[in-house]
Amino acid sequence: MTAPTSRVQPIDPATVRGDFPVLARQVHGKPLTYLDSANTGQTPNAVIEAVDSYYRQFNANVARAVHQLGDEATTAYEGARDKLAAFIGANTREELVFTSGTTQAINLVAYSYALPHLKPGDAILVTQMEHHANIVPWQLVCERTGATLKVAPITESGELIVDEFVKALTPEVKLAAFTHVSNVLGTVNPVRELAKACRQRGIASLIDGSQAAPHLPLDVKAIGCDFYAITGHKMAGPTGTGVLWARREHLDAMPPFFGGGEMIREVSFEGTTFADPPHKFEAGTPNISGFVGLGAAVDYLTGLGMERIAATEQELLAYATEKLSAVPGLRIFGTAPHKAAVISFLIEGAHAHDLATMLDLQGVAVRSGHHCAHPLMQFYGVPATVRASLAFYNTPEEVDRFIEALATVRKLLM
Ligand code: PMP
Repeated sequence: MTAPTSRVQPIDPATVRGDFPVLARQVHGKPLTYLDSANTGQTPNAVIEAVDSYYRQFNANVARAVHQLGDEATTAYEGARDKLAAFIGANTREELVFTSGTTQAINLVAYSYALPHLKPGDAILVTQMEHHANIVPWQLVCERTGATLKVAPITESGELIVDEFVKALTPEVKLAAFTHVSNVLGTVNPVRELAKACRQRGIASLIDGSQAAPHLPLDVKAIGCDFYAITGHKMAGPTGTGVLWARREHLDAMPPFFGGGEMIREVSFEGTTFADPPHKFEAGTPNISGFVGLGAAVDYLTGLGMERIAATEQELLAYATEKLSAVPGLRIFGTAPHKAAVISFLIEGAHAHDLATMLDLQGVAVRSGHHCAHPLMQFYGVPATVRASLAFYNTPEEVDRFIEALATVRKLLM
């Protein structure tokens, strides 16, 4: 991965697996082997308990109550913003807008930043490896403004061709949107270099950090982008939580996306003035329990150490890649030297969904399908792949179980 990982001590999974109750369950009478963390990560007790204690002890709305419970809820909710700001290396807590996930974060930029900025003839640059969440909002904005979408190419091994990306940053490009880590290929993009190239040309950059935040240390200041989006449920937090980090000058200039309570300063029938960022973008009652849980998730991950998480996952990735490479007829999609612990593959003569369904019967949970990346599937000329994605709570023994299950499934299918 991007950060040097060899100096740090990897995590012994035996010390953390007990923190994740779901990992102890069985499916189809077999021990669960959960290899779908890129889809959604598992949730530690600390997070479950934080959500539980919110409902049991201080369930109240944030910001508007003067009573004790409201104060406690607001402290925990806003406390999560402080934790997340430190986690991603933000300058100030006000740069973090709470959203329902990466999808909403990107849509917020699309409608509040891109829509007012773009005119016919302008362009947005994306890459061939984007998730639909980082394609479709831009297409919708292009339709409304007359702007066009440009696509930076990748190599067969799943690496962004940086020279081509930079060449594509022509004067009509007003925004470049690219992923930090590919959810299909695992490729870790050189985001500092890409953001720098954008900045040198006065082009805004948005990074989809969904698959990076759970797996590597983050520093949005050092990356130098304009916008960075993350999603809580992939980083040990509850579903329905996410963050848009944006430079303060953008948040100040952007009009609100949703209107309603909580985001105003003064309302009259003659007109409304808005609260300062980030509250200007957080209309209505938010997912309070979710963010209380996400704050606990950040504490949990920070307690383990992101460097150690990265090192642990790199070891598992190397082990799983070696084992999978020995399976006859198996092709791995995404072999970049810098990659996260995501392995997409196909086995000659077997359909991805059949493989995944039969692996499930062996207790092995993997994802099959297009992974919300149709254009990437089109690039490789396949309708779907199987994806095994690993996290620090997985063990080499689980990788072995996966490989054994795959051998059984292969025999049945061939
Ligand atoms: N981008 C990437 C790279 C993803 O992997 C995902 C989730 N699969 C998303 C965006 C969307 O995240 P969410 O559904 O949590 O909004």
